[in-house]
Amino acid sequence: MKFTALVMGIFVVSAGAWGQKPPLLAEKEVAAIAGEINGETAKRNLEGIARFHRQRGSKGFHEAAELVAERLRAYGLSDVAILQFPADGKIFYGTQRSRPGWDAEVGSLIITEPQKMVSCNTPTLMVDCITGPTTVLANYEAIPITLAEDSESGSKLATIVDIGEGTKESDYAGKDVQGKFVLVSAQPGAVQDLAVGKFGAVGIISYAQNQKTAWWGEDENLIRWGHLETFSTNKTMAFMVSLKTARWLLQKESQAGVIGVIAEAKVKAGQHVGNYEVVTATIPGADAKLKEEEIAFSCHLDHQRPGANDNASGCAAILEVARTLQKLIAEGKLARPARTIRFIFPPEIEGTMALLNGKPEFAKRIKAVVHMDMVGGGPETKAVFHVTRGPMSLPSFVQDVAWAFAEWVNEESYQFAATGKAEYPLVSAEGGKEPLRAEYSAYTMGSDHDVYQDSSFGIPAIYLNDWPDRFIHTNLDSAANIDSTKLKRAGFIGAASGYFLAGMKGDDLNTMDSEITIGRYLRGAALRERIRGLSAAEACAPKREEMAFEKKEYRSVQMFLEMEPIKPSIENLAADDCFPGEPFYVHTGPPPTYQRKAKPKGPLVVFGYDYFAAEWAKRGHTTKPKLLEYAGLWGGGEEYAYEVLNFADGTRNAQGIRDAVSAEYGPVPLELVVEYLKALEEIGVVEQMK
Ligand SMILES: [Zn+2]
Repeated sequence: MKFTALVMGIFVVSAGAWGQKPPLLAEKEVAAIAGEINGETAKRNLEGIARFHRQRGSKGFHEAAELVAERLRAYGLSDVAILQFPADGKIFYGTQRSRPGWDAEVGSLIITEPQKMVSCNTPTLMVDCITGPTTVLANYEAIPITLAEDSESGSKLATIVDIGEGTKESDYAGKDVQGKFVLVSAQPGAVQDLAVGKFGAVGIISYAQNQKTAWWGEDENLIRWGHLETFSTNKTMAFMVSLKTARWLLQKESQAGVIGVIAEAKVKAGQHVGNYEVVTATIPGADAKLKEEEIAFSCHLDHQRPGANDNASGCAAILEVARTLQKLIAEGKLARPARTIRFIFPPEIEGTMALLNGKPEFAKRIKAVVHMDMVGGGPETKAVFHVTRGPMSLPSFVQDVAWAFAEWVNEESYQFAATGKAEYPLVSAEGGKEPLRAEYSAYTMGSDHDVYQDSSFGIPAIYLNDWPDRFIHTNLDSAANIDSTKLKRAGFIGAASGYFLAGMKGDDLNTMDSEITIGRYLRGAALRERIRGLSAAEACAPKREEMAFEKKEYRSVQMFLEMEPIKPSIENLAADDCFPGEPFYVHTGPPPTYQRKAKPKGPLVVFGYDYFAAEWAKRGHTTKPKLLEYAGLWGGGEEYAYEVLNFADGTRNAQGIRDAVSAEYGPVPLELVVEYLKALEEIGVVEQMK
């Protein structure tokens, strides 16, 4: 395409800075934030956090929390504190059963290849078997990920039996695992009740792989973060090994014939009464009344070492937002916004559940959240950066604010990558020069934004996140794969969005109108692509829900500003090819209408605890409602269940809820939704409207 290249060339030479104007904020405000926010500072903090094995309620988590609190104080933030919420396995925070803290000192697994053909199954002969070359497979002090979370103390000497996945009884057929270690491909928590509880194994060695992506299982050096079930009564010890080590063990096992290799394990670890710790700090607002309202920045500070992208990156990025905004406001380069800006660093989901339930004033004050979970993945990780919209049950303009800034960074960073020239390239000295290419994505679950946006809290969240990441939850999720340019850009998008929301006032309605219109076109296009294959009748529900969503999203601006409602410019939109003029989701007749009760608060599946499953089992049920296993066109059981509960707001009957979740995740039979709603009623989470 020579012609195009020539034309492009002329433009590039002749044009000055022809980038877009920045959205929503004044250009001098954008320039101040872009000029201050620093990818290197963020990455140095990330490297500090990534040194700690940050399990909930552990010493490593506490050390990371101290590091963050020390930085916040050094940066001059107000109200710096590490809040503590008791976690003993009994206290509930809404639907979250607190999980006791867990710490380890020793986690050692040494393999011996026996030299002599003697039986090693008899304990008295054991000593004869352990004369041979040895290999260290696990050493908690050096590589903490090799010991699974919630392992218990013990000292064991035993052979190893390969049982494949280990999650089904048939995996154990014809194998004697009594008194032995089992080698499994599933997570330790998924096999412990069978392997240890039923068949008498003494411990678990797992080579479970990380979350499925195109690169799944390809890198045989990855060691995955492993977990036992916190509340299982079959306490045991479990070790995590790489695929390469597992293959080596399998080969040794077959060579050694009847003897097998000998594993010697020593563990000093266990659960203890502890605390969920949540670091927090503020930049106080300027307005006497509005400073009681807060715009919160959130990340999760926990996870395995190094856990660089997941999620030292999100915490380092919001820490850099804290430094940047605090400094610019203190120096008078940015006006102090009306609302307070808050920063929150909890352990994932359970820490947020403890905070919002344990200190309800936080849930009351927070008007919107900017949540960052995985925002630094460089090209090695294969990450795509997402600005993720909220669930359809909570229409809000806040994600359109974030997208406005993200799209502007897309444009500026592409101009820079393509031509070497842009006014705001947002490139960090140590980082890459690739364009950002952020995507505006439909709601996905899996982090603290699910808690905020659950209908019991109803706090809209901007969710900035990478996916995929081929190193997630492994020993190789390291700082080496983190791009400081990406940290800078994620920090900028977050800082600009949060600062705009904190200072937002009535005049901003007009500028916001245009960003909402852009968002509506993008959502509309995505919806029309999705419903291409649906029948005309099935396509109606998504189109009607779209109209309802867009009207509510528009009104969310006025609710945020506490203004008198004005008639949205989209009030007359109608999906006129679907039941013209009919109010489509407010039903009074059967099927029944349900309303969520005030308590318990939080999603029904949280971290390490499934409230629904526990309450359902208490009532003697042995089979799950079918919705939980349903696979829709664009979502699965967990997602349908989350939204069915959120839509149970007393205005929609079961048919209306069915239509709403069908629009979001694909058509689902009404009877599955009714069955699940009845189950929710039985466990006391919703009630039927009279
Ligand atoms: Zn995460």
